[in-house]
Amino acid sequence: MRIGMIAPPGAGKGTQSALIAAHFNIPHICTGEILRDHVKRGTATGRVVSGYLDRGELVPDEVLCDTVHQALNDVIAAGGDFVLDGMPRTMDQARAIHRVSTELGMAADVVLHLKADDETVRQRMLARAAVEHRSDDTEPVIERRLALYHQMTEPILAWYAFRGILVTVDATRTAAEVGREILGVLEVLRPVIRNVPEKMRRPVDLTMLTPAMAQRG
Ligand code: ADP
Repeated sequence: MRIGMIAPPGAGKGTQSALIAAHFNIPHICTGEILRDHVKRGTATGRVVSGYLDRGELVPDEVLCDTVHQALNDVIAAGGDFVLDGMPRTMDQARAIHRVSTELGMAADVVLHLKADDETVRQRMLARAAVEHRSDDTEPVIERRLALYHQMTEPILAWYAFRGILVTVDATRTAAEVGREILGVLEVLRPVIRNVPEKMRRPVDLTMLTPAMAQRG
């Protein structure tokens, strides 16, 4: 399985990606973690990126590419399956990943969209701030990250939907509920995806189920 993740900050991308990686026994590449790790270790890259992280800004593409390059090479060497969490965040990154991964025969099979409204993710990030002390979980930085998500990242979803590889789940529920739904849908899709060309597939929006079920009580 080659899985991409798109979600607003605080929607649970990291948690769900880790679950997917463990379940399918595939590598998990988390760009945010890789960057934070550089900051923690005080590397040259860490010194360059720490200001961007603290302000909630996107790290410049050159720095990002250099930094995740090694992780991507490791994935290629390990056979090419992955769950990619934190990238793409811009249409440029999406095009670049698509170009390179298609050349390598490793384009994503499924892109999971964890859908959550701003108020829910704000509350989660503020709650996380009390526990994890991430430098970017403060109110003004959360607002900046949300604004960047809506402006730069959200537009990519339409492209994945058009290609028929987007699966949208309601991420406002508990991590266990969201995880169960994700693993269920991925298990069902797994035998199908490699045999059905993208153009014959359709986007799946599982969030439509939530209001319908609520109405039925
Ligand atoms: P979250 O999704 O909770 O905001 P991440 O851990 O994915 O957090 O990312 C944290 C920070 O790392 C981002 O706010 C940004 O500064 C930087 N970053 C991560 N991935 C990218 C990317 N693809 N392009 C640019 N910057 C990135």
